[in-house]
Amino acid sequence: MSLVITNLHTSIDGNDILKGLSLEVPPGEVHAIMGPNGSGKSTLAKVVAGHEDYEVTGGSVTMDGQNLLDLEIDERSRAGLFLAFQYPMEVPGVTMANFIRAARQARLPEGEEIDAVAYYKELYEKMDQLGIDRRFTSRSVNEGFSGGEKKRNEVLQMMMLEPSYCVMDETDSGLDIDALKVVAGGVNSMRSPERGFLVITHYQRLLDYIEPDHVHVLADGQIVRSGSKELALELEKKGYDFLKEETPVAS
Ligand code: ADP
Ligand code: MG
Repeated sequence: MSLVITNLHTSIDGNDILKGLSLEVPPGEVHAIMGPNGSGKSTLAKVVAGHEDYEVTGGSVTMDGQNLLDLEIDERSRAGLFLAFQYPMEVPGVTMANFIRAARQARLPEGEEIDAVAYYKELYEKMDQLGIDRRFTSRSVNEGFSGGEKKRNEVLQMMMLEPSYCVMDETDSGLDIDALKVVAGGVNSMRSPERGFLVITHYQRLLDYIEPDHVHVLADGQIVRSGSKELALELEKKGYDFLKEETPVAS
């Protein structure tokens, strides 16, 4: 049982981006990935989720023993994977309430219907917890939302779908400090021995609120360092420049 990424190589339009990345996220743990811009953090998130633009040229990704690379995007989602996007898409014409409801419905056995009363009760509770105004339920998904509103909405979806593995791509960017605390509170309320988190961030600040069990540094498509949460503090102090003196582990 784990989200296991082994020697993953990916390319897009002929450019190699991930160059032999390996990582294991067991349930119950929070793994943070940090790294400079352009190092491949979003590529990793998107490839694990199944973005069709990226070609997997080597390696494997399994979730609790299941080969994720064999599954379509929606199958990965229903199998228990969730990706909170760095840049959430706008979905005009689909209200937030209907969007999340459809995703929940898709998780039920054939012929079973969502209990609308219970659904709205839970939705409102979680919106309250994340400080999202209830009027957002009838707005189109992300349409005209501020950066911070989009990020809260990603976490709302994550909380409503109760995935086994949560991949969060720079959920902190665009959030002011108060919003960051609220969002981190939502994430922390989901932490459990049954659930693993891969938290991608450029800044150490998020990790003050979502305390990671392990920190990995991604540079030029490879994990070049792994450590405890102190590694994030070291990066904060020294920046990413010191990585240039280090040779990535060959694969
Ligand atoms: P990060 O999230 O760490 O900032 P990304 O995964 O977004 O990095 O990008 C990693 C590298 O892949 C960058 O050099 C970026 O320019 C390149 N890349 C991403 N998408 C594409 C694309 N569609 N075509 C060509 N190069 C791309
Ligand atoms: Mg990114």
